[in-house]
Order: sequence, then structure tokens, then C-alpha cells
Amino acid sequence: MVTAFEASFNPGRILFGSGASARIGPEIARLGCSRALVLSTAFQKADAAALADRLGQASVGVFAQAAMHTPVDVTERALEVYHALGADCVVALGGGSTIGLGKAMARRTDCPQLVIATTYAGSEVTPILGETENGLKTTMRGPQILPEVVIYDPDLTLGLPVAMSVSSGLNAIAHAIEGLYAQDRNPVTSLQAVEGIRALRDALGVIVQTPTDAAARGLALYGSWLCGTVLGTVGMSLHHKLCHTLGGSFNMPHAETHAALIPHTAAFNAQAAAEVLQPAADLFGGTIGAGLWDFAKSLAAPMSLRDLGLSENDLDRAADLAVKNPYWNPRPIDRESIRALLQQAWSGQRPL
Ligand code: NAD
Repeated sequence: MVTAFEASFNPGRILFGSGASARIGPEIARLGCSRALVLSTAFQKADAAALADRLGQASVGVFAQAAMHTPVDVTERALEVYHALGADCVVALGGGSTIGLGKAMARRTDCPQLVIATTYAGSEVTPILGETENGLKTTMRGPQILPEVVIYDPDLTLGLPVAMSVSSGLNAIAHAIEGLYAQDRNPVTSLQAVEGIRALRDALGVIVQTPTDAAARGLALYGSWLCGTVLGTVGMSLHHKLCHTLGGSFNMPHAETHAALIPHTAAFNAQAAAEVLQPAADLFGGTIGAGLWDFAKSLAAPMSLRDLGLSENDLDRAADLAVKNPYWNPRPIDRESIRALLQQAWSGQRPL
């Protein structure tokens, strides 16, 4: 039976396929723009410079200082460059860090954003921005934050290191798991979530063996688009709240923390959301928490918060912070059970 639902979807234009990044020039023109500032991290600077060269007159230059968690001082420097060069749009080439910088600039100027996504984090299809200033991470939403055009070109992900591919893929799967039990889910987001998880499950197993397998890279990027779309459409719960706390207050690495936690948060919610999680559980042998743990282990993913550098002494404070502001979760949350969950994720035990 289809139960009553409301659905709102984000607008956006998606171009997918091998070689699709070559279409960026016409896409800039299609938006009525002609002076793009290309954004990247320092690590991807050479790729950004090559892209700017290919764009010729349609690019005014490169700003290659994007950083994790979108620090406001970096955004301010980027905006100075944007205005000094007379740019009229941004092209973000990279993962969530670079895309976050473009979003932060658009929040302040409403400049059009084009994204060439090169990880599986999914930020390119969400109207969500997390910025940091003075050690505090603030999350905001808004229509001007959502990029106008997203290009997925699997060719650009062939060199994404295996460890990063695995963590980023599990980060994407986590969006879909939480989307399945979101209060504001609808039949389309549930289909997207299951298909996204399936695609990433099939792709990651191949990528760890053969990182340059073009078909697997395409499948992973397709899965990440679906999972990111779910993240951008419905509300998230315990898992994302815990990752936000661990990233914001304990400086834990983003994708890796998602990867280490998702088996445990999924197990925590397994009974309370049994029916809606069943299609995902079926993809991992029938039991969602243990199944995801086995899958992550088979990919040599980060398996514990301890291995990611969290001190056992921090678990009490993490539990306090995680229950400070109430939010909806399929299983009610109390400090004691969250503390136990964190202990299990810290030691990396296989959940039941
Ligand atoms: P990232 O963007 O920080 O990338 C990690 C590193 O990998 C960077 O040095 C990057 O340059 C490099 N890299 C990216 N693609 C590559 C490729 N194809 N080949 C080689 N190197 C490559 O990592 P991320 O996990 O994509 O993003 C994390 C950030 O995104 C966090 O700040 C997180 O909060 C944010 N995020 C936001 C949302 C949202 O909806 N607002 C969603 C997901 C993530």
C-alpha cells in the first residue's frame, strides 16, 4: 500500500558520462555567463589549471585553496579574487570541500555554480552548506546554495585513491540508509536510496581490486548521485548528527568517520526501522548492521573511531554533545544508549 506523502524536489541540471566534463564551456554559456573562476583544493590545482586553460576566454583564473569544512576566511579570500578578476560564475572541480567553497560564495553573491564532482560525498546536489568559523561548524540551507549544473565524468575519478573511494562511497551509502527511515521520505527517495546503495555496493567491490575499471567508476558515481540526491531531499538523523559532532568538535576526518560509524548507527536503528531498512539489509546478507560491517571490512575501510584518532576519554563528551539538542530518530535517543553505541564504534566491534 502506498501511504500518504508530500514530496518536494530540488531543481538542477545533471550531465553524466565519460567525457562529460568537456561540456563545461557550453554549460557556462547556457547560464548566460562568460567569466568563470575555477575552484579546487591545492591538491587538485594542476587539474583546475588545465580546466581553466581549456576554457580559454571563458575562464578568468583559478582559486586553489579550498579546505575541509569550508572555513569562512578562505571564502572571504576567494570572494576577493572573484571580484578582482570580474568573474561571473564559479566552476568547482573536486569533492565536498571545493563544492562547499562554491556554495559559500554563492550564498553571499548568488553567483551561478557549476560543479564537476570527483568524489562520492554528494554535496553537489544538496542545498546544504556547513561553514566553520572560530572552531564552530554551522549548517544552513537555501536555494542559492544548490549548484545550478552538475557534471559527473567517471574519467575524472579513475585516480581517486582506493582508500578515499571506499570511505567516500560509504559516506554516500550512509546518506541513503538515513534517507530510508527519514520522516519526510517519499516513494521516489526510497527508490533512489536502494538503487544508490546497490550501485555503490557493486562498484566498490570492483574498485578495490581494479581502481581504473571505467564501468565500476561510472556505477559508483551514479550511486553517489542518487545517495546525494536523497541527502538533499529528506532529513537526516542520528548517524549524520554523530558525524557532525565528531567532525565539528573533535576534528575527525569527514568521509572516514561516516565509514566507521554507519554499521553501528544502522544497527542501532535496525529494529525501530526494520521494514523500511529491509531492502538495504537484503543487499548485505539480511542484517543491516553486521552486513554493512562485513562489507566495510571486505573493502579494508576504516573500522573504528580509535583507528581514526579519537581518544577513549572523548567518548563521554561526544555522547553529551550528541544528545544536547533533540532531533528525530526512528529509535528514541538517550545518553546511555548513545554512549554505548560510541564505545562499540570506537573499538570497532562487529554489531549484531
Ligand atoms: P574532499 O573534497 O575534502 O576531498 C579530499 C581530498 O581528495 C582533497 O584533497 C581533494 O582535492 C582530493 N580529491 C577529490 N577528488 C579527487 C580525485 N578524483 N582524484 C584525486 N584526488 C581527489 O572530500 P569529500 O569527502 O568529498 O568532502 C568532504 C567535505 O564535504 C566536508 O567538509 C563535508 O562536511 C562536506 N560535505 C558536505 C555536504 C553537503 O551536502 N553540504 C555533503 C557531503 C560532504
